Amino acid sequence: MTQTYLDQCLKDDLTVRWPDSAMPIKVYVAPFKWYEKSKQQESYAYNKMVLEALNLWSNISNGSIKFQLVQAVSQSQIDISWRRVDRKSLGHCEYLISPDSAMYSCEIKIGISDGLIHAQYNDFSEVEHTILHELGHALGLIGHSKGSTDIMYVPHQYGVTGLSKRDVETLRWLYKLPVGFNYQMAGQKYNLPPGFTIHDVIDAMLGGTSKAKPQSSSSKEEKKYREKPEILLEHHDILEQMGKFHMSTQNILKPPSDKNNA
Ligand SMILES: [Zn+2]
Repeated sequence: MTQTYLDQCLKDDLTVRWPDSAMPIKVYVAPFKWYEKSKQQESYAYNKMVLEALNLWSNISNGSIKFQLVQAVSQSQIDISWRRVDRKSLGHCEYLISPDSAMYSCEIKIGISDGLIHAQYNDFSEVEHTILHELGHALGLIGHSKGSTDIMYVPHQYGVTGLSKRDVETLRWLYKLPVGFNYQMAGQKYNLPPGFTIHDVIDAMLGGTSKAKPQSSSSKEEKKYREKPEILLEHHDILEQMGKFHMSTQNILKPPSDKNNA
């Protein structure tokens, strides 16, 4: 049984990711500017966290994902900047996808605590969690896991600062399958009984022998099955959208110590 949460990461039943031709993905990290001098002095640590998070996602991708840092936002495909954390969200990711489900632009905002609001979040490792989580969205993990030890789980779990086995498996399968993989169509090819999931399809691919080649044979047919060819602009903001695609913002529970900080 395949352990992923890809079923939570589909857009109109299709997978979403960067095409292989987009590698290396160009990343711009905005300068860290902060009001408090003590915080500003930590800028090196925050920038280092971004580099480590990029390396981690890249390292576990089996060579599928490569990043390249660029010096100007105008050259970037993923833009990472900093903001003061608010009560509702720790991080935020807005992305653009093409009609064929290819990711092509992302803007990530990482929340930093001033030590008053979400003081527990002031810990470096928790910011690291947010960076990893938002980068996960940026790579195409556009949903949330239901497993509390996964980096893509919400609400934010304190102490989870790395990628789980399921995070790794999900990302690897996302990049093993073609951009805009249509599991419904693939499942029909395998004659799976109605009600099958993308995991059933992956299992069929793994267990299949002569039939197990949907990647190479399906791209033309997939296009025929796509029902919504319009360009999709997703703006993920939990303040505006509480539905299926509220994936980019992490809820955290309001700690009791917080209530005086209006
Ligand atoms: Zn999220």
